[in-house]
Amino acid sequence: MKKWFKQTVGAGLLLAGGLTLAACGTEESGEEREGLEITTSFSVLGNIIEEVIGDRGEVEYIVPIGEEPHEYEPVPSDFRKVSDADVFYINGMDLEEWLERVVSNAAADTDIVELSSGVEPIPLQGSDEADPHGWLSPKNGIMYVENLLQDLIERDPDGEEYYRENAEAYIGELEELDAWIEEEVAEIPEENRLIVVSENAFKYFGADYGFDTEGVWEINSHEEGTPQQINRVIDLVQDRGVSAVFVESTVDKRYMTQVSDNAGVPIAGEVYTDALGAEGSGAETYIDMLHHNASTFVDGLK
Ligand SMILES: [Zn+2]
Repeated sequence: MKKWFKQTVGAGLLLAGGLTLAACGTEESGEEREGLEITTSFSVLGNIIEEVIGDRGEVEYIVPIGEEPHEYEPVPSDFRKVSDADVFYINGMDLEEWLERVVSNAAADTDIVELSSGVEPIPLQGSDEADPHGWLSPKNGIMYVENLLQDLIERDPDGEEYYRENAEAYIGELEELDAWIEEEVAEIPEENRLIVVSENAFKYFGADYGFDTEGVWEINSHEEGTPQQINRVIDLVQDRGVSAVFVESTVDKRYMTQVSDNAGVPIAGEVYTDALGAEGSGAETYIDMLHHNASTFVDGLK
């Protein structure tokens, strides 16, 4: 199995060429690279890690921008990205439902570390399972950074001071963003504080900033967009008299268009949940994505 991956890695790298965050994907396979080699599951974590690791390592992520990380189908080059890495950082909380497949196909000796450790889980509606979208609140994002910092220091003790400086500066930015969101959402009247999207992914954001949240469905890996689910949300939007609904960059817009048309409420903008925004979107970084989401909610609901 391993040999086959080696033989096909050229093609895999070509396919994956656009996905690397650092300029490392086009090198000859097996070449020694400087510093830590990090692989992570999706673009949002990729950016958080880059901010802390700086120039002491290189970061690649698996799920391309524009795709969602729940039901992703790993390709052979992904197995290699994981087996070549010093550590594979994941969100955890069962976000990466394809994890088993990647891990059993890649070398078993790559460490897997969950960055969401310590996040107080909020269950999916009608279920005991935790909602995995912890990163959508910057208050949790700070915990992700702290978990990452601890792990990097253990892995690369010589870089401790450097990682601490980077993490401290980054946490400072996240704290500023948190304070800014608190201020901004104060402009939204209490009764309008309902976020409606396709996938009910804003539970952690909602809990931290005082919003109720609803989705056509709870999580992308469950059944998506049945007529019953859509009708439930249309009724709910009308009952609550909410002034706007939203769409996500990684979900087919037709479901929310149907909700919007039938409930007579506009779609006030696109938000970013399961991936960073594409180039030119203004949501190319984790901080910009959270900033964009909060201002989109405020503009739509105030
Ligand atoms: Zn999601």
